[in-house]
Amino acid sequence: MRHGRKSRSKRFDGYKEHIARDLDVPAIVACAVTPANRPEEEGAAPILEDIEHQGFALAEVHIDRAYVNSPVVTSVLASGGEVFAKPWALRSRTPGLFSKAAFRIDLRSKTITCPAGEVEAFEPGETVHFDPEACGACSMRASCTQAASGSGRSVSIAKDEALQKKLRKLQVTAAGREQLRERVAVEHSLAHIAARKGARARYLGVRKNLFDLRRSGAIQNLEALHHIHREAA
Ligand code: SF4
Repeated sequence: MRHGRKSRSKRFDGYKEHIARDLDVPAIVACAVTPANRPEEEGAAPILEDIEHQGFALAEVHIDRAYVNSPVVTSVLASGGEVFAKPWALRSRTPGLFSKAAFRIDLRSKTITCPAGEVEAFEPGETVHFDPEACGACSMRASCTQAASGSGRSVSIAKDEALQKKLRKLQVTAAGREQLRERVAVEHSLAHIAARKGARARYLGVRKNLFDLRRSGAIQNLEALHHIHREAA
């Protein structure tokens, strides 16, 4: 049995279901199933394969942030497409200490400046360690780090820091938040599928469960078509 986690305290066994839904027309265009113990981002590659097989290309994707590290996101961005997802929070793990938001990150010069003005260079995906001597002598140390004496503050720079920065900018405007909310339609489709299939996997094995998910997606598409025709009549 494969064990997965929804959060630190919430575990589940079995499989993860992934779908791609067109946001302009209510159609599920691709599905994937992965074992529950695999990261969500692994569901993105087979979804893209299905989409390309149908002759479509991804120009804009609205995804759960669990998919944001997928190579599919990198390829959409590289081909000039747009990616929308909720950004990772910048809260400090230790309440009362400066969060990452208190540091100025310059992606062009690849430098990070701390609240006291200390500057360090970084590469995306690295953890920056501020100079222990500077941190040791800093008047703001108590508000910045609980590192042992002789160590300084460290800040992790995400591989996709540029994307995260763009997403955070969207989050502070009404129009941006509206764009980030578009993905809710996908959640509705997943909820319909869960209501139809139930919470438990019907079969053993990825292949059979993928067939089951595709069958549910096809029925949902037919229902959506029926609804559109009825509205138009
Ligand atoms: S403790 Fe170090 S990183 Fe934090 S503000 Fe002071 S010098 Fe900057």
